[in-house]
Amino acid sequence: MSTGHRHKPVPLTDGLSEQYWAAARDHRLLIQRCRHCGSYQFYPRLHCTTCFAPDPEWVEASGRGKLHTFSVVERSTNPEFAEDCPYVFAIVELDEGVRLATRIVATPPGRLACDAPVRVVWPEAAVGPPLPVFAVTGDGGRESGDRGTR
Ligand SMILES: [Zn+2]
Repeated sequence: MSTGHRHKPVPLTDGLSEQYWAAARDHRLLIQRCRHCGSYQFYPRLHCTTCFAPDPEWVEASGRGKLHTFSVVERSTNPEFAEDCPYVFAIVELDEGVRLATRIVATPPGRLACDAPVRVVWPEAAVGPPLPVFAVTGDGGRESGDRGTR
């Protein structure tokens, strides 16, 4: 039976991600940078994944990157997401070199292409902190029917 109003799952905050979600509320995208070797990483960890130094620092990312890969979700068995279909699930590579799972908004899926330039945008969430999603910038989306041929 119905349990009443349903909403999407809300991100859970722990000691490691608390600062990330606080920044998200201010529409700032944070990633970690190693204090020892300078490597960037995402998602948050207690140590650097390159040199294993402890306690990487949070820094604000540029919010710019490129579309690494994507998939169009046509149907969802999860009722909280079914109303969003079709939507674009994507892996975006930030200019800092880290990749994150996200969505692409505002461009029809048929006009998306890998390596398209993207920037972060922050739609308000009905419940919980805003989640970073990305929009194609400039003319990075290809024209309909253009399959990369000359
Ligand atoms: Zn390091």
